[in-house]
Amino acid sequence: MLKFKFDATKEQKRQLFETAEAYTEAVNFVLSKNLSDKTTNVKKLHHAYYVTIRERFGLPAQLAVNVNRDAAAIYKTLWAQFKELKRRKPDSKATKKFWDKPPKRKSLIAKYTYNRTVSFKFANWNEIYVSISTLQGRLKWIRIYGWNKHYEYLRQGKIGDPILSYDRSSKTFFLLVPVTLEIQERRPKEIVGVDVGERHIMAVASTTGKKYLVNLPEEVKRRKQRYHNLRSELMSKGTRSAKRKLQKLSRREKRFTENVLHIVSKTLVESHPQARFVLEDLTQIRSNRVTYRGKDKEARRQAEQWPFASLQKKIEYKAALYYGVQAVYVDPSYTSQTCPVCGYVSKNNRPNHGERFVCQNCGYKEHADIVGAINIALRELSKTQEENLKGLLVSQPNAPGQTGRASSPSLGGRVADLLRRIEKYLDNSQEIWYKKFGR
Ligand SMILES: [Zn+2]
Repeated sequence: MLKFKFDATKEQKRQLFETAEAYTEAVNFVLSKNLSDKTTNVKKLHHAYYVTIRERFGLPAQLAVNVNRDAAAIYKTLWAQFKELKRRKPDSKATKKFWDKPPKRKSLIAKYTYNRTVSFKFANWNEIYVSISTLQGRLKWIRIYGWNKHYEYLRQGKIGDPILSYDRSSKTFFLLVPVTLEIQERRPKEIVGVDVGERHIMAVASTTGKKYLVNLPEEVKRRKQRYHNLRSELMSKGTRSAKRKLQKLSRREKRFTENVLHIVSKTLVESHPQARFVLEDLTQIRSNRVTYRGKDKEARRQAEQWPFASLQKKIEYKAALYYGVQAVYVDPSYTSQTCPVCGYVSKNNRPNHGERFVCQNCGYKEHADIVGAINIALRELSKTQEENLKGLLVSQPNAPGQTGRASSPSLGGRVADLLRRIEKYLDNSQEIWYKKFGR
């Protein structure tokens, strides 16, 4: 999603504000009226509310159509949430009360339609103008500002339906434009496994032999912690002014978080030009992972506030955009318990559930998160090899207590060769270096 600011006059801003306000009120009107039906059918909503929306809120035709689409989509999401809740906790209070109150949109936005209610005019490379519908008719050719790259993408990409959004804290209007870029897929130069989360924000292992942990600077962690403390303080107060402050704080925290993740992902992607990033599919259950205990609990709780899925999305997006290589997602089950050298899987490979990985079969030692990253990369490698490497790496556990490398006399030539290559890459990458990110 590209983001632009308007270079609008006071009067133009007033018109944009009124339009966004009317649109949001209209959405909330339909959301509350539809509580009895809870329909997700756009046609039905259109039939019932279109005329009222036009008359009552004075919206132009195309915006009024979008109001119903928007409301239908919100009910669709709610239905999905409700079904999930009912499945998990059928008798809970939350389930019973789910439809008690109509949903309400709080942010001030209006959804437009590209080339109908919003269009662009391109002059010089960084000179882009927008024409946009309001309650008082069309505002023509307001200049918009954004990141340099965003001008380029807007010119090159396939433009989707823009959203007008008003940020209350900075009193600024933004035009958010979804753009699809056609990317020419290039051959990856290396495979990089990335294990996100918990104690270190990322553990990275590459087929070039590089492996390292990425830590956020203390200062960043402290600031995140401060947001957390403030939030719980305000939440316990529960007054109206506390609620308002909480909203403002949440927006600020979100901006801060997004910024940090942007820097982290950018640095990672630029350190591995044209790499295929292999990421964990976080929708898969992570319950079989060994998590840290004891004094690491605090670290885990802190770290878990970072939205890992969002970090992965940023890595994926940047790798495709900068270097034309698509990232892939793999099942992360047992990646922290599996020995990447001999394939022995056991919880005991993590003595005392700590950060250390010690294979109970072959004695291979490594930082547990690095092992996770190696295994993630291996899952992608195994997919691209003819042999079923996966079956090989996750073999039946041998009797624990043995020392030295597991012998593999019965392996076929090509498979043995593959194993040797992996071992070689593991041998070549003994060092761990720590990388810090700052602004
Ligand atoms: Zn082993």
